[in-house]
Amino acid sequence: MTILYAVAFTVLSTIGFLIFYYRIYDVTMGRLDNELLDKSQRYAALAKESGLKGVLPQLADEAKSEDPQEDFYRLFNFKGDILFTTDMSFWGAIDKKDILLKMQNEGLAYFIQSQAFEKRDDKARMITAIIDPDSVLQIGESLEEVDEYLDIFLKLFSILVISLIIVSAIIGWLLARRATIDMQEVTETAEEISSGSYDRRVQVKGRYKEIERLSATFNSMLDRIQSLLHSMKEINDNIAHDLRSPLARIRGIAEMNLLKEKSIEDYKDMAASTIEECDTLIGMINAMLDITEAEAGVNGVEAEEFELVTLIREACELFRPITEEKKINLKTDLPESITFKSDRKKMQRIVMNLLENAIKYTPADGTVAVSAAAQNGEVRIDFEDTGMGISETDLPHIFERFYRCDRSRSQSGVGLGLSLVKAYTESLNGTIQVESTLNQGSRFALRFLC
Ligand code: ADP
Repeated sequence: MTILYAVAFTVLSTIGFLIFYYRIYDVTMGRLDNELLDKSQRYAALAKESGLKGVLPQLADEAKSEDPQEDFYRLFNFKGDILFTTDMSFWGAIDKKDILLKMQNEGLAYFIQSQAFEKRDDKARMITAIIDPDSVLQIGESLEEVDEYLDIFLKLFSILVISLIIVSAIIGWLLARRATIDMQEVTETAEEISSGSYDRRVQVKGRYKEIERLSATFNSMLDRIQSLLHSMKEINDNIAHDLRSPLARIRGIAEMNLLKEKSIEDYKDMAASTIEECDTLIGMINAMLDITEAEAGVNGVEAEEFELVTLIREACELFRPITEEKKINLKTDLPESITFKSDRKKMQRIVMNLLENAIKYTPADGTVAVSAAAQNGEVRIDFEDTGMGISETDLPHIFERFYRCDRSRSQSGVGLGLSLVKAYTESLNGTIQVESTLNQGSRFALRFLC
């Protein structure tokens, strides 16, 4: 990148210099040409006024005051006879015929050109002007001074451009190095992480906004990867721990039945228990997969518009037989309608799980109340029960996978319901909060933006 900038800078400054150089050259030449033209016009006026008699002494005077190596003056007629000339030994011969022919052909009164000489390295700017009907005046001025002046300018400018290129290349290199040092840090961290140091993070320094942003994004990506790794590890531990019990039970049932001959009824019972245990296992595995998928955001959210009140009422109806059997008063406080745009299936599982828990952990004659409302761009759904409640020590852990409070172990369950509720709620950009008092009841409050 530094080289690219240096090359671009060199090309641009050279183009700029060339434009500048030719402009100066033009202006200088223009000034010189005007001087020569002025002089020839003065002589033309003199010739008109007093003829060659007036011109010749004036020419001699002017030529005397000039250095013959720097300037030359020649006066000749159309036949080619020289009427006046300064010392041309410094210059050499000048072919006048071609110039006169050209002027005659093109009908020019004067002609200015840069004339080269065999004897000299420098050229001369020369005017050939008709000053009266028979005389032609030729004045030449050496371009040595102009060349020297342009040469100095060329040298100065080259030094300036070269130093600018060097300085800008150094600055560019330093800047690029500063940027790459930060990039190197990101790369080094990435390398360390790929060799197993998942807790390494890139330093977020305020040197370059873009690299700062990259580091912050990189770190948040690492946080996410680490939390996924952590939850995978947790899942593995839980699988090892919690799936072992139902498997051990299945094995136990099979072993017991192998030990001695049993009646066909006993075998049927054994098959039924095995199916039950297998269903529990499949349920656990599915729930774990659902939680992991929701947490990782794998399947995304299938948003559709649906009637939330109907969804809650249908869930309550499904549990009605159980509440009636347990003599639990299942109350609802719902508005007529809440139209909600979200993932309907996920919402259904959230409601079913919270309702199931409220009913499961509430003893007979208790009350379970479900209420919902939409207000100020927010939908809230509350599940309140007068059940066994959750102790302060258990409360921070109830959303963890496989966590079950000791007092609830008499009830069926595997401890994955609330983890699923939390993962689903968060995947729908909602929040869940719980308040509970031991032996008095619990209240689970869901909040979603709508
Ligand atoms: P499960 O109900 O299968 O045990 P959950 O993840 O649904 O698993 O719940 C975790 C634990 O939180 C339960 O074991 C229970 O101890 C406690 N819990 C959940 N909901 C309630 C509730 N409404 N009242 C009292 N305790 C609850």
